[in-house]
Amino acid sequence: MAKIARIWAREILDSRGLPTVEAACQLDSGMLSVSSAPAGTSTGTHEALELRDTDSPRYLGKGVLKAVGNVNSVLGPALVGIDPSNQQASDAKLIEIDGTENKSKYGANAILAVSQAVCKAGSMEQRLPLYMWILALAQQVGLKPVVRVPTPLFNMINGGLHGAGNLDFQEFHVIPASTKPYSQGLQMGVEIYQTIGENLARRGAIHSVGNEGGYAPNLFTNADALEVFVESIRDTKYSIGRDVFLGLDVAADSFYKDGEYIIRDKSSPLDDNGLLEFYKSLNNQYHLALIEDPFQEDAWESWKKLRETFQDQVTVVGDDLLATNPKRVQKAIAENACNAILVKPNQIGTVTETLKVIKMSRDAGWKVITSHRSGETNDTFIADFGVGTGSDYVKFGAPARGERVAKYNRLSSIEGELSRIKK
Ligand code: PEP
Ligand code: MG
Repeated sequence: MAKIARIWAREILDSRGLPTVEAACQLDSGMLSVSSAPAGTSTGTHEALELRDTDSPRYLGKGVLKAVGNVNSVLGPALVGIDPSNQQASDAKLIEIDGTENKSKYGANAILAVSQAVCKAGSMEQRLPLYMWILALAQQVGLKPVVRVPTPLFNMINGGLHGAGNLDFQEFHVIPASTKPYSQGLQMGVEIYQTIGENLARRGAIHSVGNEGGYAPNLFTNADALEVFVESIRDTKYSIGRDVFLGLDVAADSFYKDGEYIIRDKSSPLDDNGLLEFYKSLNNQYHLALIEDPFQEDAWESWKKLRETFQDQVTVVGDDLLATNPKRVQKAIAENACNAILVKPNQIGTVTETLKVIKMSRDAGWKVITSHRSGETNDTFIADFGVGTGSDYVKFGAPARGERVAKYNRLSSIEGELSRIKK
């Protein structure tokens, strides 16, 4: 059985041109794995800490040399000699030596890059495709994943903190019916994405793209973006409610100020009840299949009300609300605040903790959506993670931009492998 011989890290750039941590794990057999940490733009306050060199002018205070140094001098050496197949042991060691609630001593970006690199090394040692090795790790924490390629949730229009246009809502989704095979869903997503681009151009709206590859237009209202979807999908051979569904990541924290929500659809700011009424009218008109972060991240009562209003007709997803954190997931289950989790490994910091949070969510009967961050690299770890954990959906942005299509293309490869393995 090979052992971890050396782990090291370096600073690389993410898709936004900002630094992030890349870690490498070499085994004493000579095998080498590499993985990197993504980074969020609309980060929740309950996330594990992303360590940046805020006291240095390098990269405008966004360098990650401290986090890299923590891997090279502390985290890496601590894992030397450990069996890479023992993910639980190596993650426990990382958690123990950091010793803080939110990974603030050594940085969740440093810790996650190492945890993922070890996971890849474990799959090499086990001679398994990464998604099959993640499946085995998921089973170790009691999950019983059904291996299939999850349904992609395409973020076609970017607003909020992700888009240079004027929309307040962060993400406008087109979601293929989950009965469709992945390859068909991907093709539909691409055809609809291209059609939306043409429609925006015809309207004279900006159709350059935002952080996640979705268009970032100036429109009159947020509801107009859904209207553009309706018109564009009508121009294709697909229909809403049969082939595809609509969803939103509102990311309400980004337009919440002093107890009120400010959106361009309304001439005056809305309180929580006013925003709920607006969601009801949007749902009446557009039959939303999914809504993520509809309210501010600590507005528990409003989340509960929305759940009572929509029952299980709408998938209500906690991202900033939950921050992939077991304590917050436990509270949300007890309070019936949502019925789905957005899983972002860097919000908690290790592979094992992420798997355990998925197990809690599944036990509550929730849907699971494995997600990228707005700042991504070309690492496709998260695609394998979505498959291995049996996630219902994956959220990797629009079907455009290299760091996004890298994940979609990886899912295509996995779909091909799974069809051959089954034969
Ligand atoms: C999100 O909010 O779901 C998201 C992917 O954005 P970010 O990575 O900026 O948090
Ligand atoms: Mg979100």
